[in-house]
Amino acid sequence: MQITNEWTELAGKIKFRNQLFIDGKYVNALSGNTFEAISPIDQKVLTSISAAQSEDIDLAVKSAKHAFDSGVWRNLNPRDKKEIMLRWADLVRQNYKELALLETLEVGKPIGDTSGYDALAVARNIQWYAETIDKTYDEIAPAPKSALAMITREPLGVIGAIVPWNYPNVIASWKFAPAIAMGNSVVLKPSEESSLATLRVAELAVEAGLPNGVFNVVTGLGTEAGKALALHNDVAKIAFTGSPSVGRMMLQYAAESNMKQVSLELGGKSPQVVLNDVVDLDTAASTIAWGIFYNSGQTCNAGSRVIVQAEIKDALFEKLNEFVKTFRCGHPLDPQTQMGPVVSLKQRDRVNSYLDIVGANGEKFVFGGKKPSGNDCNFEPTLIDSVEHGSKLAQEEIFGPVIVAEIAKDEAHALELANGTNYGLAASVWSGNISKAHNFARKLRAGTVWINTFDMSDVITPFGGFKNSGSGRDKSLHALDAYSALKTTWVDLN
Ligand code: NAD
Repeated sequence: MQITNEWTELAGKIKFRNQLFIDGKYVNALSGNTFEAISPIDQKVLTSISAAQSEDIDLAVKSAKHAFDSGVWRNLNPRDKKEIMLRWADLVRQNYKELALLETLEVGKPIGDTSGYDALAVARNIQWYAETIDKTYDEIAPAPKSALAMITREPLGVIGAIVPWNYPNVIASWKFAPAIAMGNSVVLKPSEESSLATLRVAELAVEAGLPNGVFNVVTGLGTEAGKALALHNDVAKIAFTGSPSVGRMMLQYAAESNMKQVSLELGGKSPQVVLNDVVDLDTAASTIAWGIFYNSGQTCNAGSRVIVQAEIKDALFEKLNEFVKTFRCGHPLDPQTQMGPVVSLKQRDRVNSYLDIVGANGEKFVFGGKKPSGNDCNFEPTLIDSVEHGSKLAQEEIFGPVIVAEIAKDEAHALELANGTNYGLAASVWSGNISKAHNFARKLRAGTVWINTFDMSDVITPFGGFKNSGSGRDKSLHALDAYSALKTTWVDLN
Protein backbone atom coordinates (compact mmCIF):
# COMPACT_ATOMS: atom_id res chain seq x y z
CA MET A 1 0.00 0.00 0.00
CA GLN A 2 1.41 3.43 -1.00
CA ILE A 3 0.55 6.55 1.00
CA THR A 4 1.69 10.18 0.81
CA ASN A 5 1.76 12.57 3.76
CA GLU A 6 4.10 14.74 5.85
CA TRP A 7 5.86 11.63 7.16
CA THR A 8 6.47 10.01 3.80
CA GLU A 9 7.91 13.32 2.57
CA LEU A 10 10.21 13.53 5.60
CA ALA A 11 11.17 9.89 5.06
CA GLY A 12 12.35 10.75 1.55
CA LYS A 13 14.82 13.29 2.96
CA ILE A 14 15.99 11.57 6.11
CA LYS A 15 19.71 11.02 6.70
CA PHE A 16 20.79 7.68 8.15
CA ARG A 17 23.75 7.65 10.55
CA ASN A 18 25.22 4.22 9.95
CA GLN A 19 28.60 4.08 11.66
CA LEU A 20 29.74 3.29 15.19
CA PHE A 21 29.61 6.23 17.60
CA ILE A 22 32.83 6.03 19.62
CA ASP A 23 34.57 8.78 21.60
CA GLY A 24 32.15 11.43 20.34
CA LYS A 25 32.46 10.70 16.63
CA TYR A 26 31.24 8.38 13.91
CA VAL A 27 33.75 5.76 12.76
CA ASN A 28 33.60 2.69 10.56
CA ALA A 29 34.18 -0.74 12.05
CA LEU A 30 37.93 -1.47 11.68
CA SER A 31 37.13 -4.60 9.65
CA GLY A 32 34.86 -2.62 7.30
CA ASN A 33 32.10 -5.16 8.01
CA THR A 34 28.50 -4.02 7.70
CA PHE A 35 24.98 -5.43 8.02
CA GLU A 36 21.76 -4.23 6.41
CA ALA A 37 18.93 -2.32 8.04
CA ILE A 38 15.79 -3.67 6.35
CA SER A 39 12.42 -1.98 6.80
CA PRO A 40 9.57 -4.37 7.69
CA ILE A 41 7.21 -2.00 5.84
CA ASP A 42 8.38 -3.09 2.39
CA GLN A 43 11.52 -5.20 2.98
CA LYS A 44 13.66 -2.48 1.34
CA VAL A 45 17.23 -1.93 2.55
CA LEU A 46 17.37 1.43 4.35
CA THR A 47 21.17 1.49 4.71
CA SER A 48 24.19 -0.65 5.54
CA ILE A 49 25.41 -0.20 9.11
CA SER A 50 28.90 -0.79 10.52
CA ALA A 51 29.14 -4.13 12.30
CA ALA A 52 31.39 -3.85 15.35
CA GLN A 53 33.82 -6.70 16.05
CA SER A 54 35.77 -7.30 19.24
CA GLU A 55 38.49 -4.77 18.28
CA ASP A 56 35.83 -2.03 17.87
CA ILE A 57 34.26 -2.96 21.21
CA ASP A 58 37.71 -2.67 22.74
CA LEU A 59 38.10 0.86 21.36
CA ALA A 60 34.67 1.88 22.67
CA VAL A 61 35.38 0.45 26.13
CA LYS A 62 38.80 2.16 26.18
CA SER A 63 37.16 5.49 25.35
CA ALA A 64 34.50 4.96 28.04
CA LYS A 65 37.12 3.93 30.60
CA HIS A 66 39.32 6.90 29.76
CA ALA A 67 36.35 9.26 30.21
CA PHE A 68 35.53 7.60 33.54
CA ASP A 69 39.10 7.48 34.88
CA SER A 70 39.77 11.10 33.92
CA GLY A 71 36.80 12.24 36.00
CA VAL A 72 35.74 14.60 33.22
CA TRP A 73 32.11 13.65 33.79
CA ARG A 74 31.77 12.02 37.20
CA ASN A 75 33.70 14.78 38.99
CA LEU A 76 31.81 17.60 37.33
CA ASN A 77 29.76 19.83 39.62
CA PRO A 78 26.34 18.11 39.93
CA ARG A 79 24.54 21.26 38.84
CA ASP A 80 26.59 21.41 35.62
CA LYS A 81 25.99 17.71 34.98
CA LYS A 82 22.29 18.26 35.38
CA GLU A 83 22.32 21.19 32.94
CA ILE A 84 24.06 19.11 30.26
CA MET A 85 21.56 16.27 30.61
CA LEU A 86 18.64 18.72 30.55
CA ARG A 87 20.02 20.22 27.33
CA TRP A 88 20.26 16.70 25.94
CA ALA A 89 16.60 16.05 26.84
CA ASP A 90 15.65 19.31 25.06
CA LEU A 91 17.56 18.30 21.93
CA VAL A 92 15.80 14.93 21.89
CA ARG A 93 12.48 16.76 22.20
CA GLN A 94 13.38 19.18 19.41
CA ASN A 95 14.33 16.31 17.12
CA TYR A 96 11.45 14.01 18.07
CA LYS A 97 10.04 13.80 14.54
CA GLU A 98 13.33 12.55 13.12
CA LEU A 99 13.79 10.05 15.95
CA ALA A 100 10.21 8.83 15.60
CA LEU A 101 10.57 8.40 11.87
CA LEU A 102 13.84 6.47 12.17
CA GLU A 103 12.18 4.00 14.55
CA THR A 104 9.08 3.65 12.39
CA LEU A 105 11.12 3.00 9.24
CA GLU A 106 13.43 0.54 10.93
CA VAL A 107 11.05 -1.48 13.13
CA GLY A 108 7.60 -0.72 11.64
CA LYS A 109 6.00 0.86 14.72
CA PRO A 110 3.10 3.17 13.88
CA ILE A 111 4.27 6.78 13.54
CA GLY A 112 1.49 7.89 15.90
CA ASP A 113 3.16 5.80 18.63
CA THR A 114 6.78 6.70 17.92
CA SER A 115 6.06 10.44 17.59
CA GLY A 116 3.38 10.59 20.30
CA TYR A 117 5.09 8.37 22.85
CA ASP A 118 8.52 6.80 22.24
CA ALA A 119 10.63 9.81 21.23
CA LEU A 120 9.08 12.05 23.89
CA ALA A 121 9.41 9.37 26.57
CA VAL A 122 13.16 9.21 25.88
CA ALA A 123 13.40 12.99 26.46
CA ARG A 124 11.35 12.65 29.67
CA ASN A 125 13.54 9.82 30.96
CA ILE A 126 16.75 11.78 30.35
CA GLN A 127 15.19 14.82 32.02
CA TRP A 128 13.91 12.83 35.01
CA TYR A 129 17.32 11.31 35.76
CA ALA A 130 19.02 14.67 35.13
CA GLU A 131 16.83 16.12 37.87
CA THR A 132 18.02 13.45 40.33
CA ILE A 133 21.66 14.51 39.99
CA ASP A 134 21.54 17.44 42.44
CA LYS A 135 18.78 15.99 44.60
CA THR A 136 20.19 12.63 45.63
CA TYR A 137 21.87 12.70 49.04
CA ASP A 138 24.31 10.28 50.64
CA GLU A 139 24.03 8.98 54.23
CA ILE A 140 25.72 9.32 57.61
CA ALA A 141 25.53 6.12 59.68
CA PRO A 142 24.62 6.22 63.43
CA ALA A 143 28.20 5.48 64.48
CA PRO A 144 29.59 6.25 68.01
CA LYS A 145 30.22 9.98 68.65
CA SER A 146 33.95 9.36 68.35
CA ALA A 147 33.58 8.49 64.67
CA LEU A 148 32.04 9.71 61.45
CA ALA A 149 30.81 6.90 59.21
CA MET A 150 29.73 8.04 55.76
CA ILE A 151 27.91 5.90 53.23
CA THR A 152 28.34 7.26 49.72
CA ARG A 153 27.27 5.98 46.33
CA GLU A 154 30.06 5.50 43.82
CA PRO A 155 29.55 4.99 40.09
CA LEU A 156 30.63 1.55 38.87
CA GLY A 157 32.73 2.54 35.84
CA VAL A 158 31.99 1.35 32.31
CA ILE A 159 28.43 0.06 31.86
CA GLY A 160 27.67 -2.21 28.90
CA ALA A 161 24.04 -1.98 27.87
CA ILE A 162 22.55 -4.52 25.44
CA VAL A 163 18.98 -3.86 24.33
CA PRO A 164 16.25 -5.26 22.02
CA TRP A 165 14.29 -3.76 19.14
CA ASN A 166 10.73 -3.48 20.43
CA TYR A 167 11.14 -0.10 22.19
CA PRO A 168 14.63 0.67 20.93
CA ASN A 169 15.31 4.05 22.53
CA VAL A 170 12.86 3.90 25.42
CA ILE A 171 14.44 0.75 26.86
CA ALA A 172 17.93 2.08 26.07
CA SER A 173 17.13 5.27 28.00
CA TRP A 174 15.95 3.28 31.04
CA LYS A 175 19.60 2.16 31.21
CA PHE A 176 21.80 4.96 29.86
CA ALA A 177 19.96 7.82 31.61
CA PRO A 178 20.38 6.58 35.23
CA ALA A 179 23.84 5.17 34.45
CA ILE A 180 25.11 8.48 33.08
CA ALA A 181 23.32 10.51 35.78
CA MET A 182 25.24 8.43 38.38
CA GLY A 183 28.57 9.37 36.72
CA ASN A 184 29.28 6.16 34.79
CA SER A 185 30.32 5.85 31.15
CA VAL A 186 28.18 3.72 28.83
CA VAL A 187 28.82 1.49 25.82
CA LEU A 188 25.43 0.63 24.36
CA LYS A 189 24.77 -2.11 21.83
CA PRO A 190 21.37 -1.70 20.18
CA SER A 191 19.65 -4.62 18.51
CA GLU A 192 20.74 -5.20 14.91
CA GLU A 193 17.08 -4.57 14.01
CA SER A 194 17.08 -1.05 15.48
CA SER A 195 20.32 0.95 15.40
CA LEU A 196 19.46 4.18 13.59
CA ALA A 197 17.53 6.24 16.14
CA THR A 198 19.88 5.24 18.97
CA LEU A 199 22.94 6.49 17.08
CA ARG A 200 21.22 9.85 16.68
CA VAL A 201 20.42 10.08 20.42
CA ALA A 202 24.12 9.56 21.25
CA GLU A 203 25.11 12.27 18.78
CA LEU A 204 22.64 14.66 20.45
CA ALA A 205 24.26 13.90 23.83
CA VAL A 206 27.59 15.20 22.58
CA GLU A 207 25.88 18.22 21.00
CA ALA A 208 24.42 18.95 24.45
CA GLY A 209 27.90 18.92 26.01
CA LEU A 210 28.31 15.36 27.31
CA PRO A 211 32.09 14.74 27.20
CA ASN A 212 33.37 12.42 24.48
CA GLY A 213 33.50 8.78 25.54
CA VAL A 214 30.77 9.00 28.18
CA PHE A 215 28.18 7.58 25.80
CA ASN A 216 29.23 5.27 22.95
CA VAL A 217 26.96 3.27 20.65
CA VAL A 218 28.34 0.14 19.01
CA THR A 219 26.08 -1.29 16.34
CA GLY A 220 26.46 -4.91 15.29
CA LEU A 221 25.36 -8.48 15.69
CA GLY A 222 24.63 -9.99 19.07
CA THR A 223 26.96 -12.92 18.55
CA GLU A 224 29.84 -10.58 17.65
CA ALA A 225 29.47 -7.10 19.17
CA GLY A 226 27.13 -8.10 22.03
CA LYS A 227 29.24 -11.08 23.04
CA ALA A 228 32.50 -9.09 22.94
CA LEU A 229 30.98 -6.36 25.11
CA ALA A 230 29.61 -8.82 27.67
CA LEU A 231 32.97 -10.63 27.85
CA HIS A 232 35.06 -7.46 28.18
CA ASN A 233 37.13 -7.32 31.36
CA ASP A 234 36.89 -3.55 31.70
CA VAL A 235 33.10 -3.53 31.69
CA ALA A 236 31.83 -3.31 35.28
CA LYS A 237 28.24 -4.23 34.57
CA ILE A 238 26.01 -5.52 31.80
CA ALA A 239 22.48 -4.15 31.80
CA PHE A 240 20.55 -6.44 29.47
CA THR A 241 17.03 -6.51 28.07
CA GLY A 242 16.08 -9.28 25.69
CA SER A 243 15.18 -12.94 25.57
CA PRO A 244 15.72 -15.39 28.46
CA SER A 245 18.06 -17.54 26.35
CA VAL A 246 20.42 -14.65 25.66
CA GLY A 247 19.99 -13.43 29.25
CA ARG A 248 21.36 -16.78 30.41
CA MET A 249 24.41 -16.23 28.18
CA MET A 250 25.04 -12.88 29.90
CA LEU A 251 25.49 -14.71 33.20
CA GLN A 252 27.86 -17.15 31.54
CA TYR A 253 29.88 -14.34 29.90
CA ALA A 254 30.18 -12.62 33.29
CA ALA A 255 31.39 -15.84 34.92
CA GLU A 256 33.90 -16.45 32.12
CA SER A 257 35.34 -12.93 32.33
CA ASN A 258 35.57 -10.53 35.28
CA MET A 259 32.41 -11.57 37.20
CA LYS A 260 30.83 -8.27 36.21
CA GLN A 261 27.43 -7.41 37.62
CA VAL A 262 24.51 -8.43 35.43
CA SER A 263 20.94 -7.14 35.46
CA LEU A 264 18.39 -8.92 33.31
CA GLU A 265 15.03 -7.71 31.99
CA LEU A 266 13.64 -10.68 30.09
CA GLY A 267 10.36 -11.68 28.52
CA GLY A 268 6.92 -12.45 29.87
CA LYS A 269 3.64 -14.29 29.36
CA SER A 270 1.60 -11.83 31.35
CA PRO A 271 -1.91 -12.86 32.46
CA GLN A 272 -4.90 -10.52 32.34
CA VAL A 273 -7.33 -12.08 34.81
CA VAL A 274 -11.04 -11.26 34.58
CA LEU A 275 -13.10 -12.33 37.60
CA ASN A 276 -16.87 -12.80 37.56
CA ASP A 277 -17.59 -9.56 39.38
CA VAL A 278 -15.80 -7.30 36.88
CA VAL A 279 -17.83 -4.10 36.76
CA ASP A 280 -17.27 -2.60 33.34
CA LEU A 281 -16.76 -5.27 30.71
CA ASP A 282 -16.44 -2.71 27.88
CA THR A 283 -13.49 -1.01 29.57
CA ALA A 284 -12.00 -4.36 30.51
CA ALA A 285 -12.26 -5.59 26.91
CA SER A 286 -10.72 -2.49 25.30
CA THR A 287 -7.94 -2.37 27.91
CA ILE A 288 -7.19 -6.07 27.51
CA ALA A 289 -7.06 -5.62 23.72
CA TRP A 290 -4.67 -2.66 23.96
CA GLY A 291 -2.63 -4.66 26.48
CA ILE A 292 -1.80 -7.25 23.82
CA PHE A 293 -2.23 -5.60 20.41
CA TYR A 294 -0.27 -2.39 21.11
CA ASN A 295 3.05 -2.53 19.20
CA SER A 296 1.73 -5.66 17.45
CA GLY A 297 2.14 -7.66 20.65
CA GLN A 298 5.89 -7.03 20.69
CA THR A 299 5.98 -5.77 24.25
CA CYS A 300 7.81 -7.68 26.96
CA ASN A 301 4.93 -7.21 29.40
CA ALA A 302 2.21 -7.72 26.75
CA GLY A 303 -0.89 -9.23 28.35
CA SER A 304 -0.70 -12.29 26.15
CA ARG A 305 -2.95 -14.59 28.24
CA VAL A 306 -6.53 -13.76 29.19
CA ILE A 307 -7.71 -15.84 32.13
CA VAL A 308 -11.45 -15.55 32.51
CA GLN A 309 -14.04 -17.23 34.74
CA ALA A 310 -16.25 -19.55 32.70
CA GLU A 311 -19.51 -17.68 33.38
CA ILE A 312 -18.42 -14.46 31.70
CA LYS A 313 -16.22 -15.87 28.95
CA ASP A 314 -18.75 -15.48 26.12
CA ALA A 315 -19.65 -11.92 27.10
CA LEU A 316 -15.96 -10.95 27.27
CA PHE A 317 -15.12 -12.54 23.92
CA GLU A 318 -18.03 -10.70 22.30
CA LYS A 319 -16.79 -7.36 23.64
CA LEU A 320 -13.21 -8.14 22.54
CA ASN A 321 -14.48 -9.03 19.09
CA GLU A 322 -16.45 -5.77 18.85
CA PHE A 323 -13.44 -3.78 19.99
CA VAL A 324 -10.93 -5.24 17.51
CA LYS A 325 -13.27 -4.38 14.63
CA THR A 326 -12.54 -0.72 15.48
CA PHE A 327 -8.78 -1.32 15.59
CA ARG A 328 -6.98 0.28 12.64
CA CYS A 329 -4.32 -1.99 11.14
CA GLY A 330 -2.37 -0.40 8.33
CA HIS A 331 0.66 1.45 7.02
CA PRO A 332 2.93 2.56 9.89
CA LEU A 333 3.48 6.01 8.31
CA ASP A 334 -0.26 6.71 8.43
CA PRO A 335 -0.87 8.60 11.71
CA GLN A 336 -4.26 6.84 12.04
CA THR A 337 -2.68 3.38 12.13
CA GLN A 338 -2.87 1.60 15.48
CA MET A 339 -1.18 -1.67 14.51
CA GLY A 340 1.56 -2.10 11.91
CA PRO A 341 3.82 -4.98 10.85
CA VAL A 342 5.99 -7.04 13.17
CA VAL A 343 9.68 -6.17 13.08
CA SER A 344 11.04 -8.64 10.49
CA LEU A 345 10.34 -11.66 8.33
CA LYS A 346 12.13 -13.75 10.96
CA GLN A 347 9.75 -12.54 13.67
CA ARG A 348 6.80 -13.01 11.28
CA ASP A 349 7.81 -16.64 10.75
CA ARG A 350 8.22 -17.16 14.49
CA VAL A 351 4.67 -15.93 15.15
CA ASN A 352 3.36 -18.01 12.23
CA SER A 353 4.95 -21.11 13.75
CA TYR A 354 2.63 -20.69 16.77
CA LEU A 355 -0.43 -20.13 14.57
CA ASP A 356 0.49 -23.35 12.72
CA ILE A 357 -0.11 -25.45 15.84
CA VAL A 358 -3.54 -24.00 16.66
CA GLY A 359 -6.10 -26.81 16.50
CA ALA A 360 -3.67 -29.63 17.29
CA ASN A 361 -5.13 -29.92 20.81
CA GLY A 362 -8.61 -28.55 20.12
CA GLU A 363 -7.67 -24.84 20.27
CA LYS A 364 -9.88 -22.52 18.21
CA PHE A 365 -9.52 -19.06 16.72
CA VAL A 366 -12.18 -16.68 18.07
CA PHE A 367 -11.00 -13.97 15.68
CA GLY A 368 -7.91 -13.32 13.53
CA GLY A 369 -5.50 -16.12 12.69
CA LYS A 370 -4.35 -14.91 9.26
CA LYS A 371 -0.78 -16.00 8.54
CA PRO A 372 1.07 -13.39 6.46
CA SER A 373 3.38 -14.67 3.74
CA GLY A 374 5.74 -13.39 1.04
CA ASN A 375 7.08 -9.98 2.09
CA ASP A 376 4.11 -9.27 4.35
CA CYS A 377 4.70 -8.84 8.09
CA ASN A 378 1.15 -7.70 9.02
CA PHE A 379 -0.96 -9.86 11.31
CA GLU A 380 -4.57 -9.50 12.38
CA PRO A 381 -5.38 -9.14 16.07
CA THR A 382 -5.87 -12.78 17.07
CA LEU A 383 -7.63 -14.53 19.98
CA ILE A 384 -7.24 -18.28 20.53
CA ASP A 385 -9.66 -20.12 22.82
CA SER A 386 -9.46 -23.47 24.63
CA VAL A 387 -5.72 -23.42 25.07
CA GLU A 388 -4.35 -26.11 27.37
CA HIS A 389 -2.38 -24.69 30.27
CA GLY A 390 0.67 -26.88 29.66
CA SER A 391 0.83 -26.20 25.92
CA LYS A 392 3.42 -24.09 24.08
CA LEU A 393 0.68 -21.61 23.22
CA ALA A 394 -0.01 -21.00 26.92
CA GLN A 395 3.57 -21.16 28.16
CA GLU A 396 5.83 -19.58 25.52
CA GLU A 397 6.21 -15.95 24.56
CA ILE A 398 4.79 -15.53 21.04
CA PHE A 399 5.72 -11.82 20.77
CA GLY A 400 3.06 -11.05 18.19
CA PRO A 401 -0.56 -9.76 18.29
CA VAL A 402 -1.89 -13.05 19.62
CA ILE A 403 -3.72 -13.58 22.91
CA VAL A 404 -4.59 -17.02 24.25
CA ALA A 405 -7.54 -17.68 26.55
CA GLU A 406 -7.53 -19.96 29.57
CA ILE A 407 -10.83 -20.63 31.32
CA ALA A 408 -10.88 -20.66 35.14
CA LYS A 409 -13.39 -22.66 37.23
CA ASP A 410 -13.10 -20.23 40.15
CA GLU A 411 -10.79 -17.60 41.65
CA ALA A 412 -8.33 -20.11 43.10
CA HIS A 413 -8.02 -21.75 39.70
CA ALA A 414 -7.55 -18.35 38.06
CA LEU A 415 -4.65 -17.62 40.42
CA GLU A 416 -3.08 -21.02 39.78
CA LEU A 417 -3.25 -20.44 36.01
CA ALA A 418 -1.98 -16.86 36.31
CA ASN A 419 1.12 -17.91 38.28
CA GLY A 420 1.59 -21.12 36.30
CA THR A 421 4.37 -20.14 33.88
CA ASN A 422 8.13 -19.63 34.19
CA TYR A 423 7.63 -15.90 33.75
CA GLY A 424 6.71 -13.18 36.23
CA LEU A 425 6.96 -9.79 34.56
CA ALA A 426 3.44 -8.34 34.82
CA ALA A 427 -0.19 -9.28 35.49
CA SER A 428 -3.59 -7.70 35.93
CA VAL A 429 -6.79 -8.55 37.72
CA TRP A 430 -10.28 -7.18 37.02
CA SER A 431 -12.85 -7.22 39.84
CA GLY A 432 -15.46 -4.85 41.28
CA ASN A 433 -14.50 -5.91 44.81
CA ILE A 434 -11.38 -3.94 45.67
CA SER A 435 -10.47 -6.07 48.74
CA LYS A 436 -10.73 -9.21 46.68
CA ALA A 437 -8.68 -7.63 43.89
CA HIS A 438 -5.99 -6.55 46.39
CA ASN A 439 -5.77 -9.98 47.95
CA PHE A 440 -5.54 -11.54 44.50
CA ALA A 441 -2.88 -9.00 43.44
CA ARG A 442 -0.77 -9.83 46.51
CA LYS A 443 -0.65 -13.47 45.46
CA LEU A 444 0.36 -12.74 41.84
CA ARG A 445 4.06 -13.41 41.28
CA ALA A 446 4.87 -10.50 38.97
CA GLY A 447 7.06 -7.41 39.08
CA THR A 448 4.12 -5.17 38.14
CA VAL A 449 0.47 -5.87 38.93
CA TRP A 450 -2.42 -3.76 37.69
CA ILE A 451 -5.89 -3.71 39.24
CA ASN A 452 -8.71 -2.83 36.85
CA THR A 453 -6.29 -1.54 34.24
CA PHE A 454 -3.26 -2.65 32.22
CA ASP A 455 0.03 -1.16 31.09
CA MET A 456 -0.14 2.08 33.07
CA SER A 457 3.45 3.05 33.71
CA ASP A 458 5.89 5.88 34.07
CA VAL A 459 9.56 6.40 34.82
CA ILE A 460 8.56 6.97 38.47
CA THR A 461 7.93 3.27 39.20
CA PRO A 462 10.34 0.32 38.92
CA PHE A 463 9.99 -2.25 36.16
CA GLY A 464 11.33 -5.79 36.01
CA GLY A 465 10.42 -9.37 36.72
CA PHE A 466 10.38 -12.42 38.93
CA LYS A 467 11.43 -15.93 37.85
CA ASN A 468 12.64 -16.20 34.21
CA SER A 469 11.52 -12.63 33.55
CA GLY A 470 14.80 -11.55 35.09
CA SER A 471 16.38 -9.80 38.01
CA GLY A 472 17.07 -6.16 38.75
CA ARG A 473 14.78 -3.25 38.04
CA ASP A 474 14.82 -0.46 35.45
CA LYS A 475 13.23 2.97 36.07
CA SER A 476 12.48 4.96 39.25
CA LEU A 477 15.06 6.10 41.82
CA HIS A 478 15.86 2.42 42.46
CA ALA A 479 17.60 2.29 39.07
CA LEU A 480 20.29 4.57 40.50
CA ASP A 481 21.23 1.72 42.86
CA ALA A 482 21.75 -0.50 39.83
CA TYR A 483 24.49 1.79 38.52
CA SER A 484 26.32 2.52 41.77
CA ALA A 485 28.01 0.75 44.66
CA LEU A 486 27.85 1.79 48.30
CA LYS A 487 31.13 2.87 49.87
CA THR A 488 31.77 3.29 53.59
CA THR A 489 34.28 5.89 54.79
CA TRP A 490 34.93 5.66 58.54
CA VAL A 491 36.71 8.62 60.18
CA ASP A 492 38.15 8.37 63.69
CA LEU A 493 37.33 11.74 65.29
CA ASN A 494 39.60 11.24 68.29
P1 NAD B 1 17.41 -11.09 21.94
O1 NAD B 1 17.65 -11.68 23.27
O2 NAD B 1 17.58 -11.94 20.76
O3 NAD B 1 18.38 -9.84 21.71
C1 NAD B 1 18.52 -8.82 22.65
C2 NAD B 1 19.87 -8.17 22.47
O4 NAD B 1 20.87 -9.14 22.73
C3 NAD B 1 20.13 -7.65 21.06
O5 NAD B 1 20.86 -6.44 21.11
C4 NAD B 1 20.97 -8.75 20.46
O6 NAD B 1 21.83 -8.30 19.42
C5 NAD B 1 21.78 -9.19 21.65
N1 NAD B 1 22.30 -10.56 21.54
C6 NAD B 1 21.74 -11.59 20.87
N2 NAD B 1 22.53 -12.70 20.99
C7 NAD B 1 23.58 -12.33 21.75
C8 NAD B 1 24.73 -13.02 22.23
N3 NAD B 1 24.96 -14.32 21.95
N4 NAD B 1 25.62 -12.34 22.99
C9 NAD B 1 25.40 -11.05 23.29
N5 NAD B 1 24.36 -10.34 22.85
C10 NAD B 1 23.44 -10.98 22.09
O7 NAD B 1 15.97 -10.44 22.02
P2 NAD B 1 15.20 -9.60 20.91
O8 NAD B 1 14.77 -10.56 19.86
O9 NAD B 1 15.98 -8.40 20.50
O10 NAD B 1 13.97 -9.03 21.77
C11 NAD B 1 12.86 -9.77 22.05
C12 NAD B 1 12.95 -10.39 23.43
O11 NAD B 1 13.28 -9.43 24.43
C13 NAD B 1 11.63 -10.95 23.86
O12 NAD B 1 11.82 -12.18 24.49
C14 NAD B 1 11.10 -9.93 24.85
O13 NAD B 1 10.18 -10.36 25.76
C15 NAD B 1 12.33 -9.47 25.50
N6 NAD B 1 12.14 -8.12 26.04
C16 NAD B 1 12.10 -7.94 27.40
C17 NAD B 1 11.90 -6.69 27.93
C18 NAD B 1 11.85 -6.44 29.42
O14 NAD B 1 11.96 -5.30 29.85
N7 NAD B 1 11.71 -7.42 30.26
C19 NAD B 1 11.75 -5.59 27.10
C20 NAD B 1 11.79 -5.80 25.73
C21 NAD B 1 12.01 -7.08 25.22
